Amino acid sequence: MQRSVKVNGEIIDYTLIKTARASVEIRVLPNEIRLFAPQSYPLRRADQLVRDKADWIAQARRRFTEYEAREAALYPMTDGMPVPVEGRQYTLRVTYGTRSSAYQAGDELVIITPDTAPDKVREALRGYLIGRAQQRIRERLDHFIPLVGRAPGRVTIREQRTKWGSCSGQGNLNFNWKLIMAPPEALDYVVIHELCHLYEFNHSPRFWERVSRYMPEYAVWRDFLRSGWAHPFP
Ligand SMILES: [Zn+2]
Repeated sequence: MQRSVKVNGEIIDYTLIKTARASVEIRVLPNEIRLFAPQSYPLRRADQLVRDKADWIAQARRRFTEYEAREAALYPMTDGMPVPVEGRQYTLRVTYGTRSSAYQAGDELVIITPDTAPDKVREALRGYLIGRAQQRIRERLDHFIPLVGRAPGRVTIREQRTKWGSCSGQGNLNFNWKLIMAPPEALDYVVIHELCHLYEFNHSPRFWERVSRYMPEYAVWRDFLRSGWAHPFP
């Protein structure tokens, strides 16, 4: 349920979500404020709580804005921007041209585009990196499937914000294309991790023992991926 409250002349919009639990929680997301409350929680108290927490909400929102500004400054999607691919730093070359293309030349990633606006460059670079991710992930699957000894069902490569890979109950695997920007060992780790789920559908000691057979230092790359490392597509 969408609600609005006025605090010091400013409107705060929030989403009230009734849950089965007894506790109340406010979650500030980049584009939304969510208030989780028990079924019987009065609307008037929900509004008052948001009013009481207005300073804290404003602070949390400022942090998101600052974070986005920092990311935008670091990765402006303009000529000369650094782009990590398979653990190496490349330099983005943005070139005007009537026919779009994208390719690697030495340590440069060249984007030729009829529209050099940053959001268009971003889309072109994303398309190029997704292509590389698809190729690379298939190659590494071909390498590790015979070693691990079980083949997955369907393999899909898509974009996710935080998840690097997953394995369904049917043995279908899913990988995040953003892995192409990580060191190759980190990508290998996720490939091994998901293939090992074809034996152990959990994260038990037996599962990790199996992962370690193909990558004894897996914890280094697991921690790396959890560390919130910087890349142009956060
Ligand atoms: Zn897992």
